[in-house]
Amino acid sequence: MSSRDSAAPKFPLRLDRLTGTPGAAPASVLRPQRPLHDAAVARSRAAVPAGLGLDSHGVRERLLERLRAEGLVDPRVLAAMRAVPRHAFVDTALANQAYEDTSLPIGLGQTISKPSVVARMIELMLAPHAPQSRLRLLEIGTGCGYQAAVLAQLSRQVVSIERLKPLHDKARGNLAALRLDNLRLVYGDGRLGHAPNAPYDGIIAAAGGHDIPPAWTEQLAPGGRLVAPMHDGGEGGQVLVVIDRLADGSLRRSMHEAVRFVPLKSGID
Ligand code: SAH
Repeated sequence: MSSRDSAAPKFPLRLDRLTGTPGAAPASVLRPQRPLHDAAVARSRAAVPAGLGLDSHGVRERLLERLRAEGLVDPRVLAAMRAVPRHAFVDTALANQAYEDTSLPIGLGQTISKPSVVARMIELMLAPHAPQSRLRLLEIGTGCGYQAAVLAQLSRQVVSIERLKPLHDKARGNLAALRLDNLRLVYGDGRLGHAPNAPYDGIIAAAGGHDIPPAWTEQLAPGGRLVAPMHDGGEGGQVLVVIDRLADGSLRRSMHEAVRFVPLKSGID
């Protein structure tokens, strides 16, 4: 799946290059405002100018259209993704790619996940739950905080854990402006889950290990669903694993499509 194709946000300023024909006046004479345009384009490539329109309805709608085209149709997920400004979670130099379906670096070798993967995992996690359910959710791997913000739109309470202190702090900063009072950020080893707020109706991991840590299934409520990437034992590949805790307390596991996530590590840093 290509991440940089025609659905990329377009700059509002598009310059049609004038080609010089013999004997014609130079482009700078025909277009005296050209240097101003060039400066504006250079600025928009270097930062997030207001004129880029990242706050605009249209830019986010194009991303939603692409998600729908990929079969992601749960209205709860689409509404939550429409509500969260993804460009506010990436460095300004990358912000003009924020509404493309691509993962982007967030520092310390970590990445903000692809929007279609975020949507797919949340859709899977919500599938057993009725539309108006007031869910308690756990996320492992806060990263820059984007997915945590999306989850907060969909639930009564979200706990999100990060093991890298600089990213935990960065997420706190990114999320401050959104004032999500149902989101709790925890600095710690997510392999242990977060017992104080358990059990959870949904657990979602943004990093993949070789097993599903026992704490995660222990902290899963009856009727709850866990979605996580996990190495499938093959040649380094990962697949999405779904684990349901059934009403009688038993666990049911299913394997889904191949994915690619950063490693789930132990301990904190
Ligand atoms: N949820 C983020 C994705 C972040 S990438 C988003 O919205 O895009 C995955 C994150 O998982 C990284 O920040 C990494 O540091 C973190 N991680 C890896 N192992 C972890 C663990 N054991 N506990 C908590 N976080 C962990």
